[in-house]
Amino acid sequence: MEKKALYEGKAKIMYTTDKPDELLVYYKDDATAGNGAKKGTIMEKGIMNNKITAFFFDMLAKKGIKHHYISMPSDREMLVKKLDIIPLEVVLRNVAAGSLAKRLGVEEGTKMSVPIVELYYKSDELGDPMINHYHIKALKLATQDEINQIETLGLKINDILTKYLATKNIDLIDFKLEFGRDKNGEVILGDEISPDNCRFWDSMTHEKLDKDRFRRDLGNVEDAYKEILRRLTGEVR
Ligand code: ADP
Ligand code: UDP
Repeated sequence: MEKKALYEGKAKIMYTTDKPDELLVYYKDDATAGNGAKKGTIMEKGIMNNKITAFFFDMLAKKGIKHHYISMPSDREMLVKKLDIIPLEVVLRNVAAGSLAKRLGVEEGTKMSVPIVELYYKSDELGDPMINHYHIKALKLATQDEINQIETLGLKINDILTKYLATKNIDLIDFKLEFGRDKNGEVILGDEISPDNCRFWDSMTHEKLDKDRFRRDLGNVEDAYKEILRRLTGEVR
């Protein structure tokens, strides 16, 4: 397969393939936090995030959610449909944590009475500012119809994941999604769903099993990723 790096991001490299509408995603072990201010390596993170993402995408497909994942040619690589990514970070929240806890003065761990959808403009230079429907339309990032679809899909995915994870004794606190347009212009789910972009807390102990262990220097970072992979797939690494 002819491979050319199209884009290298903070956690993944996107390669072209011999098919114009497919990309190969390579998952790296690199970890960043605070918009790149903190840098490090999480051993085998790339392998674990690839497998965890594939697991979630397969599960969501069974519930009727359309996504970009096609196949997993190797432990660190995922073949996906090439999307025209809508530059929005779509954040779903069930429990207050991180920036929401700070911004609204709510104690971390407080359950929200309804799920919250937030939209951020995906721009490293601007530090991913929060934006609303008016900004999105004014900047022509997406149409109102696409925004509605993204929010509806986000809430549905949140519902499916929250219920599933509860059976694995994991509380889904919050997470980030990205959507894009496929070759037919349909809005489908892209990017990844992993401990890098979700907050997972053990239901009993409330232990953090996600990238907050790296962001906040809590230790046992690799073990948290391993534990999520084990609870989802049974694989012990
Ligand atoms: P970042 O760009 O935030 O550093 P990554 O290292 O995860 O992030 O890089 C992956 C990049 O690929 C992101 O910019 C993401 O928007 C983009 N992407 C994800 N899925 C697809 C897809 N199916 N087609 C095209 N681009 C994608
Ligand atoms: N998130 C992400 N990428 C970002 C910002 C946030 O994946 O650039 C995820 C993060 O992992 C968490 C959720 O989105 O699950 C909400 O993050 P928050 O806004 O609280 O960000 P923080 O400032 O705490 O990283």
